[in-house]
Amino acid sequence: MQAERHEVRRERYEVRGVVQGVGFRPFVYRLALEEGLAGSIGNDTGGVTIEIEGPAERVEAFRRRLQAEAPPLSRIDSIVVREAPPRRETEFRINASAASGHVSTGIPADAATCADCLRELLDPNDRRYRYPFLNCTNCGPRYTITRRIPYDRPQTSMARFTMCPACQAEYDDPTNRRFHAQPNACPVCGPRVWLVAPDGADIPSGDPVTAAIERLMAGEIMAIKGIGGFHLAVDATNEAAVMRLRERKHRYGKPLAVMVRDLDAARAVCELSGEDEALLETVARPIVLAARRAGCGIADSVAPGIPWLGVFLPYAPLQHLLFADARVKALVMTSANLSEEPISIDNEEAIQRLRNIADAFLMHDREILQRCDDSVMAVVDGAPQLIRRARGFVPLAMPLPFDSPPLLAVGGHLKNVFALARGRFAYQSQHLGDLENLTGLGFFREALQHLMHTFEIEPEAVVHDLHPGYLSTSWAKEWAAERNLPLIAVQHHHAHIAACMAEHGIEGPAIGLSLDGTGYGTDGRIWGGEVLIVRLDGPNPGNFERFAHLDYVPMPGGEAAIREPWRMAFSALRTAGVDTEEAARLAGADSQQARIVERMMERGLNAPLTSSLGRLFDAVAAVVLKRRVVDYEAQAAIELEGFCVDEPDELSSGYALALLDGDQRARKPTRISAAPLWRELSTDLRAGVNKSSIAARFHAGVAAAFIGAAKLGRENTEIDKVALSGGCMHNRRVARLLRAGLEEEGFQVFEHRTVSPGDGGLSYGQAVVAAAILSHR
Ligand SMILES: [Zn+2]
Ligand SMILES: [Zn+2]
Ligand SMILES: [Zn+2]
Repeated sequence: MQAERHEVRRERYEVRGVVQGVGFRPFVYRLALEEGLAGSIGNDTGGVTIEIEGPAERVEAFRRRLQAEAPPLSRIDSIVVREAPPRRETEFRINASAASGHVSTGIPADAATCADCLRELLDPNDRRYRYPFLNCTNCGPRYTITRRIPYDRPQTSMARFTMCPACQAEYDDPTNRRFHAQPNACPVCGPRVWLVAPDGADIPSGDPVTAAIERLMAGEIMAIKGIGGFHLAVDATNEAAVMRLRERKHRYGKPLAVMVRDLDAARAVCELSGEDEALLETVARPIVLAARRAGCGIADSVAPGIPWLGVFLPYAPLQHLLFADARVKALVMTSANLSEEPISIDNEEAIQRLRNIADAFLMHDREILQRCDDSVMAVVDGAPQLIRRARGFVPLAMPLPFDSPPLLAVGGHLKNVFALARGRFAYQSQHLGDLENLTGLGFFREALQHLMHTFEIEPEAVVHDLHPGYLSTSWAKEWAAERNLPLIAVQHHHAHIAACMAEHGIEGPAIGLSLDGTGYGTDGRIWGGEVLIVRLDGPNPGNFERFAHLDYVPMPGGEAAIREPWRMAFSALRTAGVDTEEAARLAGADSQQARIVERMMERGLNAPLTSSLGRLFDAVAAVVLKRRVVDYEAQAAIELEGFCVDEPDELSSGYALALLDGDQRARKPTRISAAPLWRELSTDLRAGVNKSSIAARFHAGVAAAFIGAAKLGRENTEIDKVALSGGCMHNRRVARLLRAGLEEEGFQVFEHRTVSPGDGGLSYGQAVVAAAILSHR
């Protein structure tokens, strides 16, 4: 009996997952003290290693509690347990970080200020009262201040701030909430804020935050340095101030995000479901798209023409302070950049780029090492969906269904996100904006260097889109040539579907509905309304079968037809057999415009053919809403969805589209013709039918047509899984109608959740297809 009580056991754990920078070591230290155990813990490049020694039953309790009580920001993917010979140690130690070996640990994402820190921030008796950089192991910046892992202070932009004795004591005390909190700081030793004029001169002020509030209340535009970059901020209830921001930014239509003090304030401006509220309060604090309340006091020009608002809550102490005295009700907080350029992060660079926009700058001296915009999410079909992957979600690992050699997938053109893959994981970068110019490409290179460095991934293959004209494609070719690496091209809509399948762990086969704006097809045409049969586990995973597609119509003027939806409307109406005069009238074109466009279509000059569903949405919006020209991507489609938001979802009320002469054996895809739709729609317009019900019938018709095509696909292939992807899947009405209708027909339906259905998800899908090809070789 004596012997049993004194049986000493030593175990060694290798813990993998998100276990660095999330308070894991102090948690383990406390656990060891509570259980009276000796041993050690240290970060390594694979995660953490723990050695634990003591009475057997205590060791067992430790192992149980290690998983059950892990800190809130951590995520344990695996624990490998090994027994080791006891060393008769008497104390528990925290070892200095070891930096060698293969990196596979998850680096933590940035996390919003926790409740404990918020309490201190607003407590006049606390030594960090109103200190804009307080944080602890449960909250604060991570990815954006980290140069490389292991995540330790010397590897972050906090390295230059030497902790004062009080901070150091917290940092060294294993019972303290700030034990090994790498960005730990206080007003004595940490970063500070100050005000700067557009000419770069400091503006003296006793309290820069209060001075900033007063300027905002006076209608000024402030550039405010945050966690992942600068925001341009303006009082969201001040119509004139918001308009001035739009004029200076040359941004007229695009909706602007609004930050409010807390959940109650969010409820006052939006109608929120339980899911919306939960999403607003997650540690990632994304911008959430929700229904705007009428008369909520937010200026109309914040989100013109749509019934939604992108709303979010403060996630950094500095932001909490702006709302603390309740004078500021709501702030427009938009990424500080010029149109689609990357967000500014450096103080000098911000002044250079923003001095003609901002009236003053609220600066700080904690360097941002990684640009990161705010993430955007929405509740789609009752569950959250990621629309823009950025702060709070980078660089979380995503699963790959196949073992992958190290590879780089460069993504697409607009809303670029690249991915690095190795083994069973892919790591997507943050949203990098449009890759249209050298500034965008510079940001891409910078983020790639950082992520390659962080994860020590040296790509052995490069994956790109099939489009020969994308900047990402030509860059990929150059980069691969310099390194003598093989290239893999993946068709755009194939990548979309593969991303959705991999997200849900489907290796295939599946019927993919790739409903999208623009993607280069294998026939050189512009695709975007595609029904694909995808078999990732088949003998030829690089290929897919194009089972059906929207019938081709010309895009008169090419890219111009995207900016000017009236061109698509005219083209679609003429293709449907409507006469020139009537087509011009419905599209809102004058006779000269109609003549020019008609000539382009007849001669096939600068009128590429497209099967894009996004362009069909544009065309219908041009006719129904008179939206002739757009000033941001997908504006027409977003307005069309918003226009019928109060109409019921009735699949059966949809306009007809026709499924035409497919022959699978002859590899001839079924064509989905919108000609009958145009005839019914113009009849309704002439009859004076309510336009919101016309918009609703259009949505229902599109959904019904693709459900019909999926059924045909199932008859031919006996596949009953359907993956939904592409930019049109941001449309919540389409998503609802498709899911309900497909499930009614007995399909298993898969929608994107943690990967964007838009082009932000492309690189993940490219990596999936490439991994499938390479693992089959
Ligand atoms: Zn905290
Ligand atoms: Zn200090
Ligand atoms: Zn796309």
